[in-house]
Amino acid sequence: MPSSLDLSGRIALVTGASRGIGYFLAKELAAAGAHVIAVARTVGGLEELDDEIKAAGGEATLVPLDLTDMAGIDRLGGAIHERWGKLDIMVANAGILGVISPIGHVEAKVFEKVMEINVTSVWRLIRSLDPLLRASDAGRAILMSSGAAHSARAFWGPYAASKAAVEALARSWAHETENMPLRVNTVNPGATRTAMRAQAMPGEDPQTLPHPSEVARKILPLASAEVTETGLIFDVRKDRFIRYHMPE
Ligand code: NDP
Repeated sequence: MPSSLDLSGRIALVTGASRGIGYFLAKELAAAGAHVIAVARTVGGLEELDDEIKAAGGEATLVPLDLTDMAGIDRLGGAIHERWGKLDIMVANAGILGVISPIGHVEAKVFEKVMEINVTSVWRLIRSLDPLLRASDAGRAILMSSGAAHSARAFWGPYAASKAAVEALARSWAHETENMPLRVNTVNPGATRTAMRAQAMPGEDPQTLPHPSEVARKILPLASAEVTETGLIFDVRKDRFIRYHMPE
């Protein structure tokens, strides 16, 4: 994959762009020349991102949207179709942890919310954006997974199940599209210094973890037209594609 990437003229959508990994990946994509469509609920975080992107000479469109609003996801696809007629890069990054708890103690509404945001909204995004990604000459779909999909550690049940579902969806989609330019891959970013990680591991010193900007720089090359792999997992720690995670 190229060390410096030219994404000028490319349209890139990033969910969960208001903070954490999505924020820095949106910045990287814009710095490489892409027009970034930044999706999240927190308007303040999106505006901060917009300021940073503009200050660096880039371009963004802000979309304040709660991804539980499935009709809103459909409308977003319609709006992108109207304005650009295609989408080059989709980063389905937004996600929630839910709760770290024995499976039998998880409240129904927490389990359902994890599935709604981590799985159903990703499927809905795929459904809404697949025709636009196919319209690109080099569509790239990047779906954020986690090592939890495979390690399935004790007490991480809902989150682990949701990420395993994302990987299965991505692989099915990759099989459906393997004979076209679209490439579909998942990413395991590894433990990263974000709000979600702090929620999962409150006793951990965040300074021992990579900053999300560092992780985002490693993920950026997946947006390149030169990527040939599809249906794989990109392991950020290993800095290469793998087929499945081996539990640690
Ligand atoms: P953060 O908690 O820092 O950020 C999550 C992002 O998702 C925010 O921008 C948030 O925006 C958005 N989001 C959450 N709920 C919704 C919603 N209902 N509608 C729209 N946007 C929403 O998480 P990370 O940056 O740590 O995680 C990013 C991805 O990486 C996730 O998929 C996570 O599972 C994965 N990951 C992270 C790891 C880590 O160690 N950090 C390790 C492995 C995987 P807002 O609240 O403004 O809506």
